[in-house]
Amino acid sequence: MHKKESPRTILVTGGAGFIGSAVVRHLAAETDWRIVNVDCLTYAGNLNSLVSVSNHPQYVFEKVDIADGHNVQRLFETYDPDFVLHLAAESHVDRSIDSAAPFIQTNITGTFVLLEAATRHWRQLDPARRQRFRFHHVSTDEVFGTLGPTGLFSETTPYRPNSPYSASKAASDHLVRAWFHTHELPVVITNCSNNYGPYQFPEKLIPLVIINGLHGKSLPVYGRGENVRDWLFVDDHVAALQVVLIQGEPGQTYNVGGNSERRNIDVVTTICGVLDELRPRKTGERHEQLIEYVRDRPGHDLRYAIDATKIRDALGWSPAESFESGIEKTVRWYLDNRSWWQPILDGSYQGQRLGLASSASS
Ligand code: NAD
Repeated sequence: MHKKESPRTILVTGGAGFIGSAVVRHLAAETDWRIVNVDCLTYAGNLNSLVSVSNHPQYVFEKVDIADGHNVQRLFETYDPDFVLHLAAESHVDRSIDSAAPFIQTNITGTFVLLEAATRHWRQLDPARRQRFRFHHVSTDEVFGTLGPTGLFSETTPYRPNSPYSASKAASDHLVRAWFHTHELPVVITNCSNNYGPYQFPEKLIPLVIINGLHGKSLPVYGRGENVRDWLFVDDHVAALQVVLIQGEPGQTYNVGGNSERRNIDVVTTICGVLDELRPRKTGERHEQLIEYVRDRPGHDLRYAIDATKIRDALGWSPAESFESGIEKTVRWYLDNRSWWQPILDGSYQGQRLGLASSASS
């Protein structure tokens, strides 16, 4: 007779952020796992994104900084996890231009601290648990630098990060890879394209445009709006993370993309079209008339695009959402959930322009 296995425990770092909270909500709904959300609640962390799971019996919140070795060690000893899904990071390129220090501290030192504690923990597991343990590091396609008008990033594209943010993520990817090769820690890495969807902090392009459009404020587009990103709906990213966590091969990296390359200006006009339909302006003017071209971001990468063949062929994942359907869902969500984003605008972020390098520390 088979002994019934006890439910898994997963440490999710950054579970109060945009993607992390989508992961936590999904795991609480779809699995019997114990979910330990490890987040120090920076400006980007928001427990209001987790109201639906806050009393869930499988859910635990730990307000811990991932660079705090003592507390991170305590978490491993207390919860004895089967998986680590590492999303905690400073994530906004514009902020990394103004001040890189928190990016170095969290993205590099924090990842190192987690790797050390995870390795100590993994070594003392019994053989069966040691075999299925995973340290899944969530990273970005920005580590590959920029593409010209053609071509795609694959898993073998050389790293050429151009912003302090992408350089710090590249460094963390290298650390994770080294812990696999040197210490045999079973790691997997995913490099994903730009995400969008519900609960995204309003400083990022898509929520900023939706909220400014609703208020009849100008819609800032960097440069001429020619920069291209490959957009992925956040729930599709969550599905990819779960597949890679369970089925990914240790030591491998997987690119995750939406097959939805769009120029920034096209993203903005698509949102304007949805807003015209769902919430026409009282003046009768179209939302597009609010577009304002502003000074470009320093070092702005021209184009990112993902070749996601490997994750599709090896693990059967592909995105379910098209860009148009995902954007419409997202606009509807921001229309229906002012109570989530209004307190942010009243508090830590008032829609100001970030990342012009003028305030960067020397
Ligand atoms: P986010 O900024 O919305 O959330 C980050 C979370 O990490 C926040 O809850 C914050 O409080 C927490 N955090 C930051 N520093 C911490 C620390 N020292 N200790 C503990 N918690 C800390 O970010 P996101 O957009 O959800 O991105 C999550 C991950 O996915 C990041 O690693 C990012 O690099 C990666 N990623 C994001 C995108 C995207 O488009 N958003 C695309 C590809 C990869």
